[in-house]
Amino acid sequence: MKIAQALSLRGQADSYERQEATWLLEHILKLSALELKLHMMQALTAEQEQAYLDGLMRLAKGEPLAYITGTQPFWTLDLKVTPDTLVPRPDTEILIETVLNLDLPYQANVVDLGTGTGAIALALASERPHWHITATDIYAATLDVAKENAIRHGLDRVQFALGAWYQALTAQKFDLIVSNPPYIDPQDPHVLNLQHEPQRALVADQHGLADLEHIITTARYWLKPNGWVVLEHGFDQAQAVQTRFKQNHYKNITSIQDYGGNDRVTLAQF
Ligand code: GLN
Repeated sequence: MKIAQALSLRGQADSYERQEATWLLEHILKLSALELKLHMMQALTAEQEQAYLDGLMRLAKGEPLAYITGTQPFWTLDLKVTPDTLVPRPDTEILIETVLNLDLPYQANVVDLGTGTGAIALALASERPHWHITATDIYAATLDVAKENAIRHGLDRVQFALGAWYQALTAQKFDLIVSNPPYIDPQDPHVLNLQHEPQRALVADQHGLADLEHIITTARYWLKPNGWVVLEHGFDQAQAVQTRFKQNHYKNITSIQDYGGNDRVTLAQF
């Protein structure tokens, strides 16, 4: 089978399905996008063909491409992902942009609660090498992936701590607390499309607000004066998140929209 023929097995030309098949084949053949384009008549080896067909089968069953290739681009980083981690989403880059726009100290003390692949902590570390950044996760296997990503990108100043939310931390005060916690309502049918990802990273009680609420109510005890909390949340949760910030006497409460025009990030200062 030639490359051109292999690609035609999935989706129409210019469709997202075809693009995914292209990424899969680039990964298997270890070719860049340009190299693949230039070698459309190259034949796959039997092994490459088998790996590709296996990959197409997994995609057809709804598995995210990132679990098949084992990596996902986020910000400027290529991150290792495993079934122990959520696949980083482009929408979370809004959180990174929001944080980079804040006026924070040169050596800010920062924590990313529930880091998963390390996406947020590592993207911030890559942009702000003088910040002291801690990344936490409740699962050792997940934290190991984040540590590997830090090594992969030479971001070894990031520290890692195992534990549930603030329980992972030793006594200290932060200039900034960030998190992309689970926030999907268990009743949301959208969850059915996300069966391959760890449910513990996606779904939270109280209509998806339980972890957001815990992070907000406890953050004040961990923040320096005028410290910030920046949280990702569901498209319909900005009002609820703002209300919880207000109830806990935060100021400068603002919500920011993602690239799809949905409220996605809310920040507040204590
Ligand atoms: N944004 C993801 C989704 O809706 C969920 C991520 C999360 O729960 N933190 O697919």
